[in-house]
Amino acid sequence: MKLSENAEKLMELLTADGFKAYAVGGCVRDYLLGKTAGDIDITTSAKPQQVEYILTNQGIKCIETGIKHGTVTAVLNGEQYEITTFRKDGDYKDNRRPESVDFVTDIQDDLSRRDFTVNAMAYNAEDGITDLFGGREDLKNGIIRAVGNADSRFKEDALRIMRALRFSAVLGFSIEESTKKAIFENRNLLNKIAGERIFTELTKLLMGDNALQVLDEYRAVIGVIIPELKPAFSCEQNNPWHIYNVYEHIIHAVHYAPKDEMIRLTMLLHDIGKPAVKTTDEKGTDHFKTHAYAGAEIAEKVLKRFKVSNDISKKVTSLIYYHQAVENVDEIRVKHWLAKIGEDYTRALFRVRISDLLAHNPEKIGYEVKKIKELLAELDEIIAEGDAFKLSDLAVNGRDLLALGYREGKEIGEKLHEILNLVIDDKLVNERNKIIEYLSQ
Ligand code: ATP
Ligand code: MG
Repeated sequence: MKLSENAEKLMELLTADGFKAYAVGGCVRDYLLGKTAGDIDITTSAKPQQVEYILTNQGIKCIETGIKHGTVTAVLNGEQYEITTFRKDGDYKDNRRPESVDFVTDIQDDLSRRDFTVNAMAYNAEDGITDLFGGREDLKNGIIRAVGNADSRFKEDALRIMRALRFSAVLGFSIEESTKKAIFENRNLLNKIAGERIFTELTKLLMGDNALQVLDEYRAVIGVIIPELKPAFSCEQNNPWHIYNVYEHIIHAVHYAPKDEMIRLTMLLHDIGKPAVKTTDEKGTDHFKTHAYAGAEIAEKVLKRFKVSNDISKKVTSLIYYHQAVENVDEIRVKHWLAKIGEDYTRALFRVRISDLLAHNPEKIGYEVKKIKELLAELDEIIAEGDAFKLSDLAVNGRDLLALGYREGKEIGEKLHEILNLVIDDKLVNERNKIIEYLSQ
């Protein structure tokens, strides 16, 4: 097994002083899966102060990331490595974090506190792979299994419930029966976990290839972290455009969405407003007018609970707010959307709409999907050609209008918008002389 040279070097330095050191967790799992590992985490029998002493003596910079929990971050050739002392967690009192951690000398204790067997393996050159809980076997068979008693492990730290779902979605693994049972039984403990920690796992889950199956099978867990989605579970859509109920439609839309966190999150919440506005006409057909506006409001509350940044919240809620507005594909004018919400949002909005459409009745959507793809191509062309779609693209500005006698403020603003609309609609050429001529008429 070949880790990065930097990690090997750090492990060698610790070993040379008589300590044990291993690469551990996700990097071993990913290596055995043939994937390039993200971060390489190192675990060692050396205490944090000893780690710091040994490494700084070699001129390696150390940051005291979490001395109390045993973690020192070493910076080698510009790369950061977390080095954590073997530890055993003390009692968990609140289903969240251990009261204390004890440093131990044996890797076995350290591995047994880890969440799942596939995450509880260690490697170093001397011992090869240390696998005390059948992680390799579970990896081969595609199974997520709690280390030890699943029920107590989820009671210790309920975030592990979300982590199990996340690994299942990302790796395409199924969750072992007793682990699954404990997930369902303990799901309400997620109410005690900080929103931002849940959100991190949820986002990773949504990006997984297997997100659709996990969101479907574990909807009872989703109902705990986003209770606002619960009405969607049983909200039928009797409408020729649909073949799924609202929740099934939502999770298919996530599935069809490109692997972009913002878009996948938008898809998860895009129809959250439907149950509240549902009406059924005399023919028995269901309608959901204004659901996008209702949905944007609900989504804002959900995202606030997850403590997402204002930036993400604004983007997701705007995309939800407008997702219905691009329904009439033949009436969509790309430049008007560009003028209204800018390039990034317009592009994202079209991608949201395609993901949404793909989760409709497949017999109905061919024309619409083709049309939106054409609009995306048109958008690229507009950007490439530098066509005008915002006020600053115009060949005149506020000062020109002031010179022509328009009053500062609202009047000039309105006039500039009028000119922009004419330019976008090809009714006026974006040249200074032409525009001034128009204004002087
Ligand atoms: P990723 O590729 O997303 O980084 P990872 O397995 O490295 O996956 P991390 O969240 O970085 O996941 O955690 C690193 C390791 O720490 C895990 O592999 C696991 O062994 C352990 N771990 C992390 N969180 C928990 C937890 N809540 N309970 C028990 N062990 C955990
Ligand atoms: Mg990691």
